[in-house]
Amino acid sequence: FSEVKNYDSEIAQAMEDEMTRQRSNLELIASENLVSKAVMAAMGSHLTNKYAEGYPGKRYYGGCEYVDVVENLARERAKKLFGCEYVNVQPHSGAQANMAVFFAVMNLGDTYMGMSLDHGGHLTHGSPVNMSGKNYHCVPYGVNDEGFIDYDEVERIALECMPKMIIAGASAYARAIDFKRFREIADKVGAVLMVDMAHIAGLVAAGLHQSPIPYAHVTTTTTHKTLRGPRGGMILSSNEVNEKYNFNKAIFPGIQGGPLMHVIAAKAVCFKEALSDEYKEYMKQVVKNADTLANALIEEGFDIVSGGTDNHLMLVDLKKYDLTGKEAEKVLDSVHITCNKNTVPNDPKSPFVTSGLRLGTPAVTTRGLKEDDMKVIAKAIRLTLLDQKLDEAAAMVKELTDKYPLYE
Ligand code: PLP
Repeated sequence: FSEVKNYDSEIAQAMEDEMTRQRSNLELIASENLVSKAVMAAMGSHLTNKYAEGYPGKRYYGGCEYVDVVENLARERAKKLFGCEYVNVQPHSGAQANMAVFFAVMNLGDTYMGMSLDHGGHLTHGSPVNMSGKNYHCVPYGVNDEGFIDYDEVERIALECMPKMIIAGASAYARAIDFKRFREIADKVGAVLMVDMAHIAGLVAAGLHQSPIPYAHVTTTTTHKTLRGPRGGMILSSNEVNEKYNFNKAIFPGIQGGPLMHVIAAKAVCFKEALSDEYKEYMKQVVKNADTLANALIEEGFDIVSGGTDNHLMLVDLKKYDLTGKEAEKVLDSVHITCNKNTVPNDPKSPFVTSGLRLGTPAVTTRGLKEDDMKVIAKAIRLTLLDQKLDEAAAMVKELTDKYPLYE
């Protein structure tokens, strides 16, 4: 950082301000986390200098012998972590991993199923503004009135539209997903089952959520959410399925050029961390904290979609208050609680306004917060959103951020 400061004061100032923000705010964005210094150091390293188009042992550039070691270690650790035969660690992001699977499995215009965005799915699962909705025909499924995936309904839709592929996985779904059931549905209609486990990858790695690996033909993930690694993506599969679809070719030369070797090194460090007992304990605490926060919010009077959570996140339904998700996000930010507005199932408001908030515990748990602290957060949220006691809430947040310092 001092090198940046010496050379580029404008960027250094913005970086410093962002560090201050991260230290003084409680980070409740469910898709974010706080990486270790080792992950950060690998990412901000000289490995960024290296071009390595291709794969270990088969590169289009010379001088790749050491980055081959890095990519092989990342692959082997990921395989061990998730118990799979094949992995590609090169996707620059989760969206890139998903796009590669689309290109590998389907032809343009093919029909597939994904969870709709306003019921918790991701943009890349069929939104009309994304490549997944523009180039393919998505038939969406959603959640029932109680906020749970209705598997019989998923099956009914699948039998009706006979999709080439079914995507299971979500960005804002607080309940366990039954991948076994999804596979049974996929088999019934001869579809490929793709699981996007981006949000719950850490839970899967720690054995706290059913693993998709035995059931999905192909699984994609990001590495920066619960998994607590650098921003990036990954594709996992069996050798047999990969031989059929060739996911390596879909990534390079399909949709990417040179891999980000510094990011792949940071992914390898993250996988080593995730294989440790310490990480398993961390993930258990993430889930305990989410459960405690959801119940504490219910006690404070809030509605939680589906009545609680099985994982690291929850959706607060604000419909009964005269308050939008957009307004709630803004006022919480003013007391140093960071979160994001989110549509709730059958939301009458647009995705820019919304009637809900998505809250998650991965980042605050990394910081060290425990169950009692979750109750304090729930109270601070009530004081902010319902009682307009912003100073009192801000003081409670400050006490927590002082108690659990970041990057010291
Ligand atoms: N898949 C899911 C389920 C996600 O929640 C996200 C990101 O929020 C992505 C894919 C996309 O990841 P990225 O932002 O790295 O492209």
